[in-house]
Amino acid sequence: MQEQTYDAIIIGAGLGGLLSAAQLLQRGKRVIVLERLPHCGGRFTAKTFQGVQVSTGAVHMVPFGSSGVLASMLSRLRIPHHFFDADVFASFHVHGKQYRSRGLLATFKFLGPRQFFWFTRVGYLMFLRRLPSSERDLPFDAWLARHIDVKRNRELTAFFERITRFALSLELSQITAAEAIHTTKNMLRYGAPGIVQGGCAALTGELERRILEQGAELRLRNDVMEILSTDDHVTGVRVRDKVNGEETTLHASLVISDIGPRATNALLNNQQITQAQVLKQRDAAPLVDVLGATFDRPHGEKETPVVAQGLKVHILSDVPLIPHKGIMYCLDTRRIAGMVQPTNCDPRLAPPGKHLLISHQVMQSDNIEEEKALALADLQMMFGETFEKHCRVLTMSAYRGEWPVNRIAQGDDVATMTAVQGLYLVGDAVKPEGYLMVEGVAQSVNQLLDLLDAIEQGEVDGPLGAPRSSRLKTNQRPMRHVTPPPPRYKSLRWLWEAPGNSRTS
Ligand SMILES: Cc1cc2nc3c(=O)[nH]c(=O)nc-3n(C[C@H](O)[C@H](O)[C@H](O)COP(=O)(O)OP(=O)(O)OC[C@H]3O[C@@H](n4cnc5c(N)ncnc54)[C@H](O)[C@@H]3O)c2cc1C
Repeated sequence: MQEQTYDAIIIGAGLGGLLSAAQLLQRGKRVIVLERLPHCGGRFTAKTFQGVQVSTGAVHMVPFGSSGVLASMLSRLRIPHHFFDADVFASFHVHGKQYRSRGLLATFKFLGPRQFFWFTRVGYLMFLRRLPSSERDLPFDAWLARHIDVKRNRELTAFFERITRFALSLELSQITAAEAIHTTKNMLRYGAPGIVQGGCAALTGELERRILEQGAELRLRNDVMEILSTDDHVTGVRVRDKVNGEETTLHASLVISDIGPRATNALLNNQQITQAQVLKQRDAAPLVDVLGATFDRPHGEKETPVVAQGLKVHILSDVPLIPHKGIMYCLDTRRIAGMVQPTNCDPRLAPPGKHLLISHQVMQSDNIEEEKALALADLQMMFGETFEKHCRVLTMSAYRGEWPVNRIAQGDDVATMTAVQGLYLVGDAVKPEGYLMVEGVAQSVNQLLDLLDAIEQGEVDGPLGAPRSSRLKTNQRPMRHVTPPPPRYKSLRWLWEAPGNSRTS
């Protein structure tokens, strides 16, 4: 078996792995990235199917657009990118028609005076009043029910429910009031969501090009089989080339895992976790061995973390169905929570003259066929004959198991640091509070940089990172890299119209 040594080994070439590689290369490290698939990008890339950019995960959209955490990290890394910011707050499909809301005040059109009054009341409670500690851990549905009569405010409740389902793939009962409020504040403070020019594949493609230019070694079709450690210090990985079956041992005192805590833990135990095991979470390999500490909840109990799962439909249409660059939330559907039409921003995502639409819903059962049928019924209900005549469904895919929407649900995320010194986690299982989707992935890389700085400057015990006892202290230190949200008053922009300000870098 061959052996080689690096400064850092990165497991997984998803967005989290690629951003980490780019950052470490900028710091002059010798980096190798290992990816088991034949391509980079993980859930943030696309395949060309019938001339359409069909994404592997994300709907070609970044939550905070050109003012967000990902955008600022890409600019700092000088990675060329362009995000088209939404030109509306959103539109809402309700009462059988689509209401376009340039700003929050325009929700009056479909909420009516009574529900709009309660909307402003909830807005006050979320943004202007300090959240009492007794309300922080309430599930958001219970928090809402405490402040409004949810039965008499159906559209208003659906407003929060559908945004949570589209943005987080969670039900209101699965997110705490504190997390929902923090995330909403960030969504409003940073700016409008944006569509990536060229789609997801263009962005991760640029990152791949950059890391190769900067001298990273990238091994595709290479499966990490085991993470090696001695005396609680990581020493490297055992990797298998899927083409020729050859195994290699790679050494490094820094290993960054972009594959989530469960799969990382399995590799530390010389196991590979399967799709079936992830789906049957309760029977899956226990998480408590090496990373278990990261799953401690405030109350100390250990629970199986919730995974966010969803179902996405790609539709090709001869006619436009959404008249703007933002999200259409669907308040009167049975399953679909929201849709986007990314060709409104970049027509090249579909063949000339065609429009790409993508819908997303939370999987509410294990019956995929039923979920797909309900998605189709929703599309027929919303667009009627137009859907029959002008639209073609390209793909319908469930995201769960090894490929969920989020490996760990918003608000349940784990720490960057593990109990094995030198082994760190990045990616969407490590999103800090308030940072969703790829903004959370970018912020997880910022957290890693902070830790590495602290270690270099001797602020954290041990040569490669402190054991769990000092983790709290580390997390409480003021962060240097973590991009802070813009000032609170910036959210006011949303009252009248979307603060679209597309930026190229
Ligand atoms: C349906 C859906 C819609 C979404 N919509 C959006 C959206 O619109 N906007 C947004 O911001 N986010 C969205 N997301 C979330 C976003 O796609 C993810 O948060 C992000 O892509 C996760 O990146 P990651 O680097 O954490 O993980 P991943 O992309 O999963 O990368 C992990 C990589 O590790 C590799 N790997 C795994 N095991 C091994 C091993 N043993 N050896 C080597 N390699 C390995 C995998 O092949 C993969 O390439 C969506 C996700 C889904 C599924």
